[in-house]
Amino acid sequence: MSEVRTRFAPSPTGYLHVGGLRSALYNYLFAKQQGGVVLLRIEDTDQSREVKGAVENLLAAFHWLGLEFDEGPHVGGACGPYVQSQRLTLYREHVKRLADANHAYPCFCAPATLDEMRAAQGARGEPPMYDRRCKSISPADARRRIERGEAHVWRMAVPGGQIVRVHDLVRGDVEFATDTVDDQVLLKSDGFPTYHLANVVDDHYMRISHVIRGEEWLPSAPKHALLYACFGWERPRFAHLPLLLNPDRSKMSKRGGDVAVEDYRRNGILPAALINFVALLGWHPQDEREIFSVDELVKEFSLERVNKAGAIFDGAKLRWMNAEYIKRESEHDLYAHVAALLTEQIEICGESRVRYAVATLRGGTEVYGDLADRIRATLGPRSADDPESIALLANAEARKLVTEFQRRMSEIPPEIWNDFPALEAAFKAAANDSGQAVGLKGKSLWQTVRAALTGQLHGPELAKLVGIWGRARVMAELENAASATTAVSS
Ligand code: GLU
Repeated sequence: MSEVRTRFAPSPTGYLHVGGLRSALYNYLFAKQQGGVVLLRIEDTDQSREVKGAVENLLAAFHWLGLEFDEGPHVGGACGPYVQSQRLTLYREHVKRLADANHAYPCFCAPATLDEMRAAQGARGEPPMYDRRCKSISPADARRRIERGEAHVWRMAVPGGQIVRVHDLVRGDVEFATDTVDDQVLLKSDGFPTYHLANVVDDHYMRISHVIRGEEWLPSAPKHALLYACFGWERPRFAHLPLLLNPDRSKMSKRGGDVAVEDYRRNGILPAALINFVALLGWHPQDEREIFSVDELVKEFSLERVNKAGAIFDGAKLRWMNAEYIKRESEHDLYAHVAALLTEQIEICGESRVRYAVATLRGGTEVYGDLADRIRATLGPRSADDPESIALLANAEARKLVTEFQRRMSEIPPEIWNDFPALEAAFKAAANDSGQAVGLKGKSLWQTVRAALTGQLHGPELAKLVGIWGRARVMAELENAASATTAVSS
């Protein structure tokens, strides 16, 4: 097979699951690396599960991630339509083709009959399988019943006693006994195909060279292999990706927490970090590197280095990775991202002080929301004073220091308050000079200054804090400290 063509074929369930993103990403990376094409196909044959707006949500998620498909319902392409509900005639023709060659037969069993069959099998400890009772209906009888309008499905006539071997690019050769393969329904009574038929027909006509999908589809592989053989078509190559597991090794599901790409987006995870993190869920590079751009992933990715064992989804690692991306952002970009969360603070304090706060407080930020919270808290009202800080200010030396410091700070000219590096220097000089005047230095000096300004013993770097706060707030805090110390002394 010459051209590499891969596909992401989600059922439109309403959101993009991270497992779906992982499949889509591996299909994307492999296709791009091989100079091929990746397409999006919507598998909407289960009309009962149809969710309004699902395709739009899916496309919005990929758009946010910056992953674009070469062909699909939104961009078209030579193999469309790319939505299965728009291809029903094709599937019906192919069921007829199978029926004509005795590879498919109509089944008239009512749902209640099938339920009874399953219950009886369960009671005997057997796996649920269709007992093939309709397979023996003569073609003439079957035709008559269909013409009378009797409800029916079409089932695949799975040959007994054979071994189907599927070569998987992750797992090697995998064998399945056809005796364990059910006579699948191919076309339902509503005229819609099932997943198996539509998937195989579409992969063939969309000229898919590699089917890369989650391990949960591995049991479908023999059914698909049999269908390819019935049609006389060449099979694509298969790669089944390891399951995604929670840290306790349970299967990742919506009940266990966030699984939708939009949840991560809402919680401040960056698209580049999410892609990087998801790329490493089941694939590992040749070296120890962990940070990869999409272009680097396209270069490095290989199906040979996809693991068989389940991949653990570690939310803490995702946050760490996000922090790595935030760390690499320029001050300008970081501010642009956080500003939207701080409109009120910008309005009250002005842009330059908020910019300075972003630059000063950014260290260790895992998600933008955390940084915004930190800035809001720093600019917000002072929390209850620490009793130790109150005690620290309750002696004559400290009281003198506060008065000295208050005076020196008030003498700093207004233009310096807008020049942050100069303000840092002026603040340090004011504190040191006041300390010298009252005989305090080092830790006891700085702790007293901090206690006077913030009422706490720990907090952000003071020389920066005065810039973030601005003159009015600094002078108000010092005035407050001065009057409190006076009150204690009187
Ligand atoms: N429609 C299937 C899904 O929802 C596609 C599985 C496959 O890739 O064959 O994941």
